[in-house]
Amino acid sequence: MKKTPFIIGNWKMNLTLMEGVDFAQSLRKTLHDKKEIICGICPPSVFLKDICEALEDSGICVAAQNIHSEKNGAYTGEVSALMVKEIGCTHVLIGHSERRHIFHETDSFINAKIKVALSVNLKPIFCIGETLHEREDGRTNYVIDNQLKEGLRGINTDHIKDIVIAYEPVWAIGTGKTALPEQANEVHSFIRSFLSDGYGKDIANDLYIQYGGSVKAENTKELMAQPEIDGLLVGGASIRLESFLKIIEAASKQECF
Ligand code: PEP
Repeated sequence: MKKTPFIIGNWKMNLTLMEGVDFAQSLRKTLHDKKEIICGICPPSVFLKDICEALEDSGICVAAQNIHSEKNGAYTGEVSALMVKEIGCTHVLIGHSERRHIFHETDSFINAKIKVALSVNLKPIFCIGETLHEREDGRTNYVIDNQLKEGLRGINTDHIKDIVIAYEPVWAIGTGKTALPEQANEVHSFIRSFLSDGYGKDIANDLYIQYGGSVKAENTKELMAQPEIDGLLVGGASIRLESFLKIIEAASKQECF
């Protein structure tokens, strides 16, 4: 059976504080009483406290876009897992392709971030995905397998339950090119079988695997119709409330809007 869709919007480095709070308040009003969808947003770190307050007790998740891998210490400019947990965040993005490629984050750094997030009960949304070059070389499964192996190294059965996996092909992020729903589903199946081999079939089936990469209202239904796609990580189309709501509506059409 399909899970309740989990749709989360990554604002990246966009919006003003006032725009973000207005967005959160309107989202809260619109989603009030809508039980058949799980929804969340990832605001910039300096907005997190205000957005958490605006969404308190709403059931809408707030995720940090980043944390450091160490618990605390001399890391000027960085933010710890405990800091974002303390102000009310439930989730954190880890391994986003922009962090991997622009900020040169390695698999072992990502693994350390996952562990520190779990240690304070912050749920990682662990992003993985291949580049266009890797796909064209026929190395998609190899890359995904490696990112999963390294990112989840040392994560046991109890902890894996708190992780959401987001498959985001790098060539589809912010490019307007979406993976074909079947193409995405194929990789999701591969991820599911990796998880099943490591943690057992039941746990693997319960885990959320989101798709991300140029998601918009027009392709949401088709993506969400795929058996292995449990939710969406939305970038560009999550910055405007109207387009984000259209995606949420399309993802949950059958039951709640
Ligand atoms: C993202 O930032 O995770 C993302 C998927 O971006 P976009 O939807 O803009 O491709």
